[in-house]
Amino acid sequence: KMANETLKAQLGNAAWKLFHTILARYPDDPTKQERTTLSQYIQLFGQVYPCGDCARHFQKLLKKYPPQTKSRKTAALWGCDIHNKVNEKLGKDIYDCTTILEDYDCGCGADELEADI
Ligand code: FAD
Repeated sequence: KMANETLKAQLGNAAWKLFHTILARYPDDPTKQERTTLSQYIQLFGQVYPCGDCARHFQKLLKKYPPQTKSRKTAALWGCDIHNKVNEKLGKDIYDCTTILEDYDCGCGADELEADI
């Protein structure tokens, strides 16, 4: 069995990957319903995240920095900033958010155009 720290880091990597990819695929011009859905998803993610200490800390961050859901760009930048708050706490490098949308291209852009099938 791998060391607990390794497992926790792998969980974090996978969780952040999905988190940023969802934000990078969020609509440019979301409806009220889409905005509510994203906010709720993030709040619930913060509640079910399986590392208890991480979840507690993240919930505090969410209170201080509520999800920004106005557009894809604002949501993705908010996500990058809040991950940087966690990086800061863990003594990790601060990530450059300027190319966040390109960094989390999931290869599913063609879905929107219904091309590339
Ligand atoms: P990670 O932080 O996992 O990042 C993965 C990759 O994402 C990086 O290699 C980089 O390419 C990219 N990246 C880095 N920063 C950003 C950014 N700001 N925006 C976009 N992409 C970025 N661990 C703890 O020990 N204590 C905690 O309290 C804790 N809280 C967490 C809360 C949440 C919600 C999550 C998802 C994880 C938490 N973790 C916590 C795990 C921790 O954040 C890391 O995932 C883990 O330490 C592994 O770090 P890493 O250096 O591999 O990079």
